[in-house]
Amino acid sequence: MKLSEFAGYGDKMEQLMRSVQAGRIVHALLFTGPHGSGKRTVARLFAQSLVCTGHDRPCGVCPACKRFLNGTHPDVHVLRPEKKSIGVDEVRALIDALALRPYEGGRHVALIEQADRMTPSAQNAMLKTLESPVGDAMFFLISDAPGGLLGTIVSRCQTVRFSDLSVQDCAAVLMRRGMEPGRAALLAGAAQGSVGRALEIDGDEEWFSLREQVIRSIESLKGPATVAAAAVPLEDRKGGEGDILDIMELWARDLMAVQSGGAPYQAAEKERLGACRVDGGLLLRGVVRARKQLDSNVAWSGALEQLYFGLTEAGNSGRTVLSWQR
Ligand SMILES: [Zn+2]
Repeated sequence: MKLSEFAGYGDKMEQLMRSVQAGRIVHALLFTGPHGSGKRTVARLFAQSLVCTGHDRPCGVCPACKRFLNGTHPDVHVLRPEKKSIGVDEVRALIDALALRPYEGGRHVALIEQADRMTPSAQNAMLKTLESPVGDAMFFLISDAPGGLLGTIVSRCQTVRFSDLSVQDCAAVLMRRGMEPGRAALLAGAAQGSVGRALEIDGDEEWFSLREQVIRSIESLKGPATVAAAAVPLEDRKGGEGDILDIMELWARDLMAVQSGGAPYQAAEKERLGACRVDGGLLLRGVVRARKQLDSNVAWSGALEQLYFGLTEAGNSGRTVLSWQR
């Protein structure tokens, strides 16, 4: 993978990369942003480009890149919390290693993952190194929670902030990783643009079974008398309300696409979407209302039943629901 392929960040990152390679910036970068926003991936691409000996860095094929990728490059040092934290001994061992001449003649690269999990004494040891660097070692600190870092460490670093991608850019990244387009669109939407979260869902069978349960529940709505029975299986899934509403929102968006004659994200499910009798727009508005109700402590069962009644009672919304009797 190349930085330029990192949708949403390409230009900015390439510019930063050129300054890093030309030695024009501070020797410590702090990558912050929400979990799954790509900061670790980008930090690793940066680090790899610094040790790469090929053209079009990081080339991915030169011996240095190969050693980087399989974790055996002698000048690349990675610290991450093995248990709860990164201790002072680990930081001191890193500093000792950096004092040696780079094995391959380039520069040392240190990657500190979850950097905020360094203990206070580890952070102080790190700070000393950042204040009076050894050789031209380059530090990459990565953190979801930079508030856990000493202000003096943060001020020694150039901070690069990440946010989640747009759903479309996220899907593009997933497809570039070889994911089939329908699945990429589904997971990018479910993860709201977080590539990391999308990849987690990808391996989460329970999420897919919950999705099937949610869609079947919606499909089983056949008028006001069926609301209670349709809601029961979802009412029992306490704690998963947020996931259930997210799944409903995705289904609503695809229903709206099909009902207005457009193409759904889930092309493979077009027939199923076409057979669903619920109005997509009503479902979407119901989801928004239910989220607000949950925020103001309305019971999940009450919010869900009200959402379902809203889909079956045309009078409440002033809109016509799709025909219940076919
Ligand atoms: Zn290379």
